[in-house]
Amino acid sequence: MAERGVAETLEEAAAAARACTLCAAQLPLGPRPTFRVSETARLLIVSQAPGTKVHATGIPFNDASGDRLRLWLGVDRDAFYDAARVALVPMGLCYPGRLPKGGDVPPMKICAPTWHPRLIPKLPAVRLTLLVGSHAIARMLGPGGMAAHVRRFRDYLPGRLALPHPSWRTIGWEAANPWFSADLLPELRARVRETLDSAAPPGG
Ligand code: SF4
Repeated sequence: MAERGVAETLEEAAAAARACTLCAAQLPLGPRPTFRVSETARLLIVSQAPGTKVHATGIPFNDASGDRLRLWLGVDRDAFYDAARVALVPMGLCYPGRLPKGGDVPPMKICAPTWHPRLIPKLPAVRLTLLVGSHAIARMLGPGGMAAHVRRFRDYLPGRLALPHPSWRTIGWEAANPWFSADLLPELRARVRETLDSAAPPGG
């Protein structure tokens, strides 16, 4: 891992993160840190951890969960993957493996405390941070449970907004919580649109 100086740049921190092998022994497919950062990003999405498809392609949210998240956000792939406007930093940068009973292993515990403090403060243009999934919500908003934090979305605006992890497992939760589609999603789409539009260069 690269030595860290007081004046470490975002580029240097990102290069060090991409070379990270800190918990290689516990990763079934080995390290492949997958994230996107840029000094101009206005929207930051702090999510859970890559799945196998993301691990294979090296593209964050390049899977069905990503399609669902883009639907929630009201953005297409071009806007979502515009690294100049959108930063994607999960709680675990590498695929953590599969649980015997189904579902993925939680993000590696050491990852966010190691890399978030080196990456996230170096994103000076971020105006809106989406906390996606229970792990990101617990780290950034504290205890209380995912659903309670998501439901209190107005309390965290304009800077932050919590969302469930957009996997198929959330479909039933969404149906049981109609306020999510009726109240939260329109607000989310409006905030995301406003945030991304604000990133346009002057006169652009
Ligand atoms: S999960 Fe995080 S800490 Fe572990 S090897 Fe990947 S980048 Fe490093």
